Amino acid sequence: MAKMQENTDRDLGRTSEEIMNECMILSALESTDLAKETGLGEDKIIISCKVSRPADLIATYRVLAEKTSQPLHLGLTEAGMGIKGLVWSASAMGVLLEEGIGDTIRISLTPRPGGDRREEVYACIELLQSLGLRAFMPSITACPGCGRTTSTTFQELAERIEAYVREQMPVWKKRYEGVETMTVAVMGCVVNGPGESKAANIGISLPGTGEEPLCPVFIDGKQFTSLKGSYDELAAGFRSIIDDYIATKYAAREAGELTPA
Ligand code: SF4
Repeated sequence: MAKMQENTDRDLGRTSEEIMNECMILSALESTDLAKETGLGEDKIIISCKVSRPADLIATYRVLAEKTSQPLHLGLTEAGMGIKGLVWSASAMGVLLEEGIGDTIRISLTPRPGGDRREEVYACIELLQSLGLRAFMPSITACPGCGRTTSTTFQELAERIEAYVREQMPVWKKRYEGVETMTVAVMGCVVNGPGESKAANIGISLPGTGEEPLCPVFIDGKQFTSLKGSYDELAAGFRSIIDDYIATKYAAREAGELTPA
């Protein structure tokens, strides 16, 4: 209240959000000092200031990062559902993480009824991977689709391969060192497909409208083979190529080096 009153009395022209954010920062820092005074170790304190708008999160944490060396937890509260929650969270946290601010993160997503709670974790993984800060699992690149293809096979194949990678990762992670850095591309036509596929460790270029029904597969920049057949045959063939690539490219971990899934 005192800050609000000061704003009015001195005609400072600050918005109520700015004042709230300042008060939250002061409160967090005072609470941190009090916790330390009462004997809590510095290594047991992490600061989190919850706001619900990206601009407030960025402004609040920039100030916090200047004023304290304690670890900071980033997260937008009440981010919302689906696309809105993802975009709002990533836009704010991406800026801060790129500036080196933030030690732990959460992307809060309101789930659809019966939705998968793990989507929050997958979103955090993608955010950290997109910025090159951490690698947790192979990344799947898929073309967005355009007028050059009327088929939905590339979307279905990309989704199926992504699900396969997630399912297999706990096993691969135990067996193969560095597998989390692998990149896979699933592309929809000959125009951009081969180029993007060559840029990935493993890429497949599906035929666009009017193209020959052949799917060239590239491994580390070179054409390896071509697949054809039904959707199920394509998916099985591509999965098998991924399995073989992982088994030969990534060093097997010694039994003593096994890490928990
Ligand atoms: S790869 Fe082909 S189908 Fe996919 S977006 Fe690019 S041009 Fe369109």
